[in-house]
Amino acid sequence: MAPGVELGFAADPGGAWRLRSAYFPSKVGGRPAWLGEAGLPGPAALRCGRCQQPCAFLLQLYAPLPGRPDAFHRTLFVFACRSPACYRLAGPCGPFRVFRNQLPRRNDTYPEEPPPEEPPPGPAPAPPRQLGSGAALCRVCGCLGPRCCGRCRRAAYCGPEHQALDWRRGHRRSCGQRAAGDDSADAIPEHNEFLFPEYEILIEPEEPEFPADSTDDEQGAVDTSKDTKEQEKLGAAGIADDALQSLDEETLEAMAKHETEEEKVFRMFKKQVAAEPEQIIRYCRGGEGPLWVSGENKPEEKDIPNCVCGAKRIFEFQIMPQLLNHLHVDSLGESIDWGTLVVYTCADNCGGGNEYLEEFIWKQDYSMGCTL
Ligand SMILES: [Zn+2]
Ligand SMILES: [Zn+2]
Ligand SMILES: [Zn+2]
Ligand SMILES: [Zn+2]
Repeated sequence: MAPGVELGFAADPGGAWRLRSAYFPSKVGGRPAWLGEAGLPGPAALRCGRCQQPCAFLLQLYAPLPGRPDAFHRTLFVFACRSPACYRLAGPCGPFRVFRNQLPRRNDTYPEEPPPEEPPPGPAPAPPRQLGSGAALCRVCGCLGPRCCGRCRRAAYCGPEHQALDWRRGHRRSCGQRAAGDDSADAIPEHNEFLFPEYEILIEPEEPEFPADSTDDEQGAVDTSKDTKEQEKLGAAGIADDALQSLDEETLEAMAKHETEEEKVFRMFKKQVAAEPEQIIRYCRGGEGPLWVSGENKPEEKDIPNCVCGAKRIFEFQIMPQLLNHLHVDSLGESIDWGTLVVYTCADNCGGGNEYLEEFIWKQDYSMGCTL
């Protein structure tokens, strides 16, 4: 049986502890809850392919592979640029970065038994300054921070952008104020304006469509009637007769068909989403493929590069436009925007536990005139 689609929904986590690394979360926003502590992507790998500014953590999915002891734990991380201008073009990567990391059940970082379901005792800890391995994390974005404040030599940053941002936000005052053994004066604030709002992602299987084959027939019938209507409309409304005559029948047919094809893909998208309109993720590794929002700008096989190991990449999950509603990125004029984001990962799921491997993401936009 083909694997079914699993849907992801954004939810209030009910406690920040649930989103920490030890609980293997799937989540949106905030800082990444890194899985493995070795081989994290460095600041250069997390810069936007368009504007070269640091990308913000967008989401992570905990997606272990059953039957693969080397991927007993496995998480996919997606980063996205904060600049709306970088979203103008559709296609590969651009303002996005995707990484994959995995660990066997027995590893140096996590116990072999699953984490408890209850919150740990005591107040929720502030975001970590460093990994268990000792590598420093940027105070602003939670990614590797190889650079440090020249005055206190303690605050770590991924680069000059976040150092400047943190200085403005208050490090100017707290720098060097730490009394011996007291971290509270410059504890890392949970939120800042660079981070996307934080949610837990809850995963549920998608209800299979019912009844499958009669729906297909109905779809066909709708299409035909729509085609005819579309042509009647062309004939009756607006276009002058002599204009019509100057276009040959074949051209007209192609025009009408192109339009219907676009509308059809978008209608299928809306129909599939309508059953669970809040879905932000559709997950189906190696399954039937993504739900496109448009017939245009789909990648062909040659557009999806092979993994560094030489294996093909296969569809793993897609991020839906509904996620945008949770990110508070609407602004006057240009906004961060997409129709859907499709993530392809190594079919062999190569790599050991000591590296974060970059994977591939494709952005598809809505066709003209088709928006939710
Ligand atoms: Zn950018
Ligand atoms: Zn940073
Ligand atoms: Zn400082
Ligand atoms: Zn590979």
